Amino acid sequence: MPTINFEGKDFFCAEDETVLECMTRHGVMIPSSCQSGACQTCMIRALEGKPTAEAQQGLKDTLKAQNYFLACVCRPDGDMTIGLSTVSPKYRVSLLEKEALNESVIRLRLQEPDGFSYKAGQFINLMRPSDELTRSYSLASMPGDGFLELQVKRVPEGQMSNWLFDDLQIGDEVEFFGPAGDCFYIPGSPEQPLLLVGTGTGLAPLYGILRDVLAEGHTGPIHLFHASLAAAGLYLVDELRSLAAGHEQLHYIPCVLHGDAPEGGRQGNITDLPAEVLGSLSGYRVFLCGDPPIVNALRQKCFLAGASMQAIHADPFVFTPAPDA
Ligand SMILES: Cc1cc2nc3c(=O)[nH]c(=O)nc-3n(C[C@H](O)[C@H](O)[C@H](O)COP(=O)(O)OP(=O)(O)OC[C@H]3O[C@@H](n4cnc5c(N)ncnc54)[C@H](O)[C@@H]3O)c2cc1C
Repeated sequence: MPTINFEGKDFFCAEDETVLECMTRHGVMIPSSCQSGACQTCMIRALEGKPTAEAQQGLKDTLKAQNYFLACVCRPDGDMTIGLSTVSPKYRVSLLEKEALNESVIRLRLQEPDGFSYKAGQFINLMRPSDELTRSYSLASMPGDGFLELQVKRVPEGQMSNWLFDDLQIGDEVEFFGPAGDCFYIPGSPEQPLLLVGTGTGLAPLYGILRDVLAEGHTGPIHLFHASLAAAGLYLVDELRSLAAGHEQLHYIPCVLHGDAPEGGRQGNITDLPAEVLGSLSGYRVFLCGDPPIVNALRQKCFLAGASMQAIHADPFVFTPAPDA
């Protein structure tokens, strides 16, 4: 049974238990969110002992070399001494603006701290200061906007989203750390066709990426599919239509599963629509964001339609499992 040493105390890890589960069971709080290795909130450092390869998947080589790892997916195969991560500074910022984008999505604009640098499409891990409840939110802003924009959907019974909707007021402070994630545009190949597909608030990172792509002078065709169950779930429709009207290479396709197709859009299953509309995706660079099962299905379908796996960037919005799950 591996032993985890933290701040001079030994904790015994049960069979098949992750470092995060072990520490939580012993009452040691490590900030965490998705609990599946996606959001990197629970990144900690092995001061002695080697983290498993799975626990370092997706981390930068520089972090791997320093023995940083994700506690939520680390089932240790030997004893370890761990320390909390000091990689990413924690920022404390005020809420500048709060606006409803539709009945279930709000836009929050936060102060951008001095010295904070990010790429459009990355995400931050937002903390409620009172209890350090942490959740990941994608940045819909792009560097130079002068604020950090989040687009948040209300989740029934959701702790963070309901607090952001109902309690957080302009001027109140929140904390965050990051940025993280590698779903962003790297300039180069300006004529390459781009496919951006988002469901629900999966539009948030794509909205940042899209504006970044246009600012970089991308000239190849850009197809943005934004999907929702019904028309009421779409948002920023007028703004995206006028952005497309001003850029002939940009095609905005709002999509719904139920009801009539929106003007200029499509009705149908979003996992089928991109290949139906565009045919072969050979040579495309693809960005997929939002609901995890849809993102995973789209990844397969885009690959089968000809996109290379290396050209597919995906940001599934993995949610925190319920405590009894
Ligand atoms: C990289 C990343 C980026 C993200 N970006 C965004 C973003 O830009 N905008 C945004 O709105 N969200 C985003 N999310 C999701 C966000 O982190 C939270 O999971 C979400 O806001 C719900 O948190 P909550 O505290 O309100 O709900 P919780 O209290 O965590 O959940 C309440 C209950 O609902 C369940 N649940 C939560 N979400 C869902 C879901 N989608 N489907 C089914 N059941 C669910 C939980 O398991 C739990 O039982 C992102 C997630 C990741 C990993």
